[in-house]
Amino acid sequence: MMLEYILILSCAAAFGAIFGSFVNVVAIRTHEHSTLMGRSHCPHCRHTLKARHLVPVLSYLIQRGKCSMCGKKIHVQYPLVELAGALLAIISVVRYLSQGAWLPMGFEFFFGASLLVFTVMDFRWSELPLELMVGTGIVFSLWNALMKVAAGAPALEVGWSHAVGFGAATLFFLFQWIVSRKRWIGSGDIWLGAIMGAVLGWPSVGLAIYFAYIIGGAFALALLFMKKIQPGTRVPFGPALVAGTLVALWWGQDILEWLSHALT
Ligand SMILES: [Zn+2]
Repeated sequence: MMLEYILILSCAAAFGAIFGSFVNVVAIRTHEHSTLMGRSHCPHCRHTLKARHLVPVLSYLIQRGKCSMCGKKIHVQYPLVELAGALLAIISVVRYLSQGAWLPMGFEFFFGASLLVFTVMDFRWSELPLELMVGTGIVFSLWNALMKVAAGAPALEVGWSHAVGFGAATLFFLFQWIVSRKRWIGSGDIWLGAIMGAVLGWPSVGLAIYFAYIIGGAFALALLFMKKIQPGTRVPFGPALVAGTLVALWWGQDILEWLSHALT
């Protein structure tokens, strides 16, 4: 039984890492406005990569982070995102395998992987891809809402929760964007916030935003202390929003239950 479980987790990790390398390709080709078709190549020497160069994480380690053709450094984004994909898959499987709940498992993994694309793009190039975000928002808000209805929640209530989540998050970020004259957050953050609201629904998105500010604030403070940034430097806020969303996904239900007990 134990062995079987380890085997399943290893498969999940391998699948997650492979999906992570797909996330890398999507992020980079969206940034370059190129198609998803075509073989991968080294961004420095343009050599087409062979299968042995494309094994997630392992190729990077074996080649010691360098292209085997030209010797230039491979961006650390590649192995990190592959690892993140593996971790995401393991977490999704651990959370839902025992109940055999494939739909929530898939929801959390694929939604998390989409958020990974936005994290990479915001981190590296301070850009958030509008079309991809809207598509992600539509697919996963429907997926989440339908799962809730299938689990027995009243459809009207679920619909309202997602509509209110979408509206509240959009207004919250739009307000900051206007008040700060675009200095605190970018327009991409409004879209990302809107998607969080639509996918998570109310009150989950409230928690996500709350944790996004704590995580983002702690991260900015750490960078400030390490003198990586100056006071007033703009730190991409997208990754913090993604982190807050993951907290709400993984622990939101527990936190809300705890809050309702603590407040009554
Ligand atoms: Zn190269």
